[in-house]
This record gives sequence, C-alpha cells and structure tokens, in this order.
Amino acid sequence: MTFSDLTTDTRAQQLRDALGDRVILAGDPGFDEARLPWNVAVDQHPFAVVRPESAEDVVDAVRAAVAAGLRVAPQSTGHAAGALADTDLSGAVLVSLARLRGATVDRLARTARVLGGSQWNDVIAAAAPHGLTAMHGSAGDVSVVGYALSGGLSFYGRALGMAVNTVREVQLVTADGALLRASVDENPDLFWAVRGGSGAFGVIVSLEIDLLPYADIYAGMLLWDAVHAPAVAHAWARWSAAAPESATTTLRVLHIPPLPDFPPFLSGRSLVVIDGAILETDAVAAEVLAPLRAMQPEMDTFARIPSAGLIAVHMDPPEPTPAITAHAVLEALPADAVDAFLAAAGSPGLFVAELRHIGGAFARPRPDGGAISAIAGEYIVHGIAVAPVPEAVGPATAAVQGTVDALSLWHGDALALTFIDSAGVARAAGFGGSGERLRELKHRYDPAGVFAAAHPV
Ligand SMILES: Cc1cc2nc3c(=O)[nH]c(=O)nc-3n(C[C@H](O)[C@H](O)[C@H](O)COP(=O)(O)OP(=O)(O)OC[C@H]3O[C@@H](n4cnc5c(N)ncnc54)[C@H](O)[C@@H]3O)c2cc1C
Repeated sequence: MTFSDLTTDTRAQQLRDALGDRVILAGDPGFDEARLPWNVAVDQHPFAVVRPESAEDVVDAVRAAVAAGLRVAPQSTGHAAGALADTDLSGAVLVSLARLRGATVDRLARTARVLGGSQWNDVIAAAAPHGLTAMHGSAGDVSVVGYALSGGLSFYGRALGMAVNTVREVQLVTADGALLRASVDENPDLFWAVRGGSGAFGVIVSLEIDLLPYADIYAGMLLWDAVHAPAVAHAWARWSAAAPESATTTLRVLHIPPLPDFPPFLSGRSLVVIDGAILETDAVAAEVLAPLRAMQPEMDTFARIPSAGLIAVHMDPPEPTPAITAHAVLEALPADAVDAFLAAAGSPGLFVAELRHIGGAFARPRPDGGAISAIAGEYIVHGIAVAPVPEAVGPATAAVQGTVDALSLWHGDALALTFIDSAGVARAAGFGGSGERLRELKHRYDPAGVFAAAHPV
C-alpha cells in the first residue's frame, strides 16, 4: 500500500495511535480554537493540529505525520497565516508551537536560548534584567523564529542589520524525524538554508541568538493631525535620506476607527506619525531629531527609555487581528514618490499607509550570513487594512495593493519576506540570489516536500 492509498480515516487513526490525545483532529473538541491563527482573517483547515510541549513531542508529531502520508506546517502564532493561505493544508498537520515557549539568557556570552514558539516579549522580559535586549520587530507577540529566520526588520536595523544575522544556532526536527543541531560548525549547509528558508526545512524547537548590550535607548514617536501629512512626509523623506545609520524610523498615515478600544487622542482620527529609535547619546539624538521636532508635533514621546519599552513604540495591535497587507521595497523616495504615497494614503478602507526607512546596515550582505542576510533598497512601502468580515477582504486587498502600486515607479527588485503576508506573492525576490541553492538544499533535506512553510523555497 502506498501513502496515497490511505483513507482519511486510516490517517486519522494512525495519528491517534501514535500521538494519543496530543493530536486534535477535525471534530475533536477544541479543534476550531487550535486551528485559529493570529490573523483571524485566515480560515485555515489543517488535517489535524498538534501543540507540542517539548522537542520530543515535535519529533513524535513529524514522524507520525510522515508515516500517515501527511505534510507538516509549523506555525508559532499565525501572524503570517496570510502567506500560508494559498497552501492546501487539508493534507497537513499544523504543528503549533504556541506551547513551546521560554527564553534563557547567558549574560556573559550575551546570548539567549529561545524555545521554538517563543515570542519577542519572552526574550525581552528575560534579557531586560541583565541590561540586554534583542533585535525584535514592532510587535511583542510575533515569534522569534517566524520573524528572525525570515529576515527580521527592527528599529536597530539601519545601525546593526537584519535580525537573522543574530542567529547563532538552530535545533530543528527535519523531514526524516531527526532532531539536528545546525550552526557554523555543525550541519553548516542546513544552518545557511534555515536562515531565510525557515520552516521550509523543519520544525525549529530552539535557537540561540545574540543579544544587544542596550539597557536603554533613545526612542519614541512624533504625532500630528493628518492635515499636516504633506509637510511632514516631505520633510521626513528629505531628513531620512540624510539621516545617520544610527536612526531607524518609519512614517505612517493612520486612519483610526472611532472605537472605544483606542485612547481618545487617537480614536476616530487620521494622523501622521513618525516613530523609531536613534542609537546615540541623548545630545546627539536630540540634534538628529531637531528638524522633525521643528514641525511642532502635537505629541512628542522621543526620550531615553528602557530598551524593553521599544516594542510598544509602534503601537501594533495587541490582539489577534484580521489584517490584509501588501508591501514593496523602494529604491528611493524622491518628492514625486512622496506625493504618490500621500495620494494613496487617503484611500478608503486603508488603516495604515507606512513608509519604513531601511538601507544602511540592512542593505549590507554578511559574508558569514545565511540564505538571506540583507535587503537591497532604501525604503519599504506597506499598506495595512482590516477585514473583520469576509466581504471586506476584496476592498481591503484593493486598498493595500493600490497603496503599493501607487509607488511602482520606484519599486526595486527585492521583497522583505517578513512583510509578505498574502497568498500568491512570488517569493523569489525575497530570497534574492539564494533561491537556487535553497532549492538544492530543500531537495537534500526534504525531498518529499514534507514541510509547508509561509515562504516556500
Ligand atoms: C502586527 C505585526 C507587526 C509586525 N512587525 C514586524 C516588524 O517590525 N519587522 C518585521 O520584519 N516583521 C514584522 N512583522 C511580520 C512578522 O515578522 C512575520 O509575519 C513573521 O513571519 C511572523 O512570525 P510568527 O512565527 O509569529 O508567525 P507564523 O505565522 O506563526 O509563522 C510564519 C512562518 O514562520 C515559520 N515558523 C514559525 N515558527 C516556526 C517554528 N518553530 N519552526 C519552523 N518554522 C516556523 C513557518 O514557516 C511559518 O509559516 C509583523 C507582523 C505583524 C502582524
């Protein structure tokens, strides 16, 4: 009998026999809750869900899935569930790492050992008492693996590069059910591949990352009513083009719904916000910011703060959200591009139109890096909309894509893998020149294509 001859019932029984009540099958109590990703706009229907609590549980889950002729889709939080939405999960076991969390800090080595489903909040909380922090992004409930192994763009990035370069070692369960260690010294090909290839190569059960020696940081936001968006956006574009690499900032036009969930100074308003971090002394940072402050923001929170507070500066939604997004990497942001951005930023249905300043160390490949270690480009344009009901998905998609398309004259060849969060986006540009070697290594480590990842290689 071949795998394809197995019936649905047989596969389910095999999983049950191998995993007992560690597997949740369709129809089991809790299945709908277990299959729900952070991005609740995505209705994912895996064959079964397993929520491992140890590396051994992950080994058992991968072996049982493969024996039953099923694929394996690792997921930590489901922030990137939109990117997985064009993958048929009906023949896959969703391995949700949500219960495999925890971070241990080695203060002297300035590293953290992080379990496979850990979120950035876990690492920040463990590192802060030692005067350390990590290269997290703008949301504390994004997972370390999903973010860092697909690149990872942080407010430290123009100074220090992409978060993927802070990964020292990975332990993962590969398609043959083996628990392997991958580092510069051990399985170096796999270590290269997983730094970019992420969940396409296995289920990561833990990783070791470098921490940053910053107990505090100069960071915050400047906020104006959106009537000032043209003046602020043009000034920020000129300012950022000349800003030192120590400054990593974003500019956003936000349309906040009139809901009680938002504080009164935000609720129901359209705003323009600049936020970010400046890795300088207070005096130098204030000097760098002075031209933006001269535009007299209604609110100015830039100050020296504990580095653990940086995660809250961008005000990302703390709860699961039905988000629709699109992005492009820009080679430049001349005045015409700013005008195009401003015209698109007022589109109906858009929640956020964002420009992230990249370049600097983000753009410098590392000779010791993995499949991705840099991103070529100067800015990212990012559109975000919310689709609380299925009928809203079409208009939301049109709004975010319209924002990105409005700047098509300045699009570069690259894409930020972490910002690809919708079905049908070609991933090749996200892997740069590494695509071919990644595919060779995928054939070596996962010849049957067991792993279904947000970003297939
Ligand atoms: C509100 C918000 C803010 C964000 N801010 C930033 C930001 O500032 N900078 C940035 O670069 N990105 C940012 N992102 C994007 C984010 O980094 C990606 O969506 C990332 O892939 C999420 O990782 P996750 O594991 O939480 O999501 P998931 O959807 O759980 O995982 C995404 C993919 O990662 C892989 N994966 C995750 N865990 C494992 C594991 N243990 N083993 C094997 N594979 C695994 C899988 O292939 C999975 O499909 C943001 C996203 C959101 C929604």
